[in-house]
Amino acid sequence: MKILVVNCGSSSLKYQLIDMENEQCIAKGVCEKIGVGSGNEGLMKGSTADGRKFEKENMPMVDHTQAFGYVKDALCDGDCKVLDDISEISAIGHRVVQGGWLFNKAELVDQKVIDGIAELCDLAPLHNPAHIQGINCCLELFGKDVPEVCVFDNAYHSTMPDEAKIFGVPYELTQKYHCIRYGAHGTSHKYIAGEVARLMGKEDIKLVSCHIGNGASITAIENGIVKDTSMGLTPLDGFIMGTRSGGVDPSAVTYLQEKEGWTPKETSEILNKKSGVLGISGVSSDERDINAAIKEGNERALLSRKIQRYQIRKFIGSYIAALNGVDAIAFAAGIAENTPTLRKDVCENLSYLGIKIDDEINNSTFGETKKISTDDSKVAVFVIATNEELMIARETKAIVDSL
Ligand code: ADP
Repeated sequence: MKILVVNCGSSSLKYQLIDMENEQCIAKGVCEKIGVGSGNEGLMKGSTADGRKFEKENMPMVDHTQAFGYVKDALCDGDCKVLDDISEISAIGHRVVQGGWLFNKAELVDQKVIDGIAELCDLAPLHNPAHIQGINCCLELFGKDVPEVCVFDNAYHSTMPDEAKIFGVPYELTQKYHCIRYGAHGTSHKYIAGEVARLMGKEDIKLVSCHIGNGASITAIENGIVKDTSMGLTPLDGFIMGTRSGGVDPSAVTYLQEKEGWTPKETSEILNKKSGVLGISGVSSDERDINAAIKEGNERALLSRKIQRYQIRKFIGSYIAALNGVDAIAFAAGIAENTPTLRKDVCENLSYLGIKIDDEINNSTFGETKKISTDDSKVAVFVIATNEELMIARETKAIVDSL
């Protein structure tokens, strides 16, 4: 069975074709700048598992329908062809950012599901409308006989207890607007928890899962069930990220709004896109640029680094308290998978727990799944090469198999 995993953003479309016989990615790619400017500035690049690649610029790409047409062409024609016919695709799995209070598990697409995703647009104004477009394009391109499944980014967090979900605002407002902690990166945390259970050979694990990329979140998991997570109503809460502020005293936000005269929209823009590592350092949101700036002696880049690591440690510590102990800590996503010093720094301050990192293994682990703690460490520490696309494909397959 071949499954196409699709992640539609407002101006982008990422895809991966996965062969479920061996769970390997056959081909992947991305269309960017969909509907941007004149509609003729589209970019597309892709690659195949056997090493073929393509990259195109200035493509007419007025909407997602046109972009999906290029995806079909890339898979079925030309230098990167991997399919004889598009009908070889058995199912489509869509990543959907916000499942809100309506969806706590993956769902087969029907009109009710599409209406539900639309109802949740207020909570994910950039993402959910784009997901609906993606679903409709696939219906058009593949027809109704190819099942489409939505995998919601926060479904895995829906098991959180109320004490972790509910904010300290008047309860009537919580109820009226469904204004609670939904979290994000759930698909990744679920994959990470599954991998840690596989590596430890048991399910009953107290795990702190750290997904640290441009967006970053930490999740407390017990026996595979989420107990708490750092992202909130939206993916802004938690600790500092590439461009997002993470948690800030709400009074600091209203104070700055008054001083600077920001509207709610401007406030959201600043907290989401101009804060975090970028806002503090004034250099970049990218970890690699920050590394270079620190080497050159940039004080604010160093400050952003110190804040990032301190806040990560604080979350891990608080989740160890929430779980009443910890068996494993996992590091995943772009930054954590590729930065041995981050893993070392964070764990060093947790040495009172009997955590011991194997420096040689840690320093040589980049983007691959590996245990980086010593055998006598009281807590197992792992790097997990997270794979949200595979998780989406697995959930899609499970639904299709049950039809
Ligand atoms: P997202 O999916 O949220 O966009 P990723 O998980 O792809 O984020 O992570 C992107 C981040 O990972 C960037 O800050 C980037 O600098 C960092 N990153 C990627 N590769 C490396 C590397 N080799 N060393 C350090 N940081 C890296």
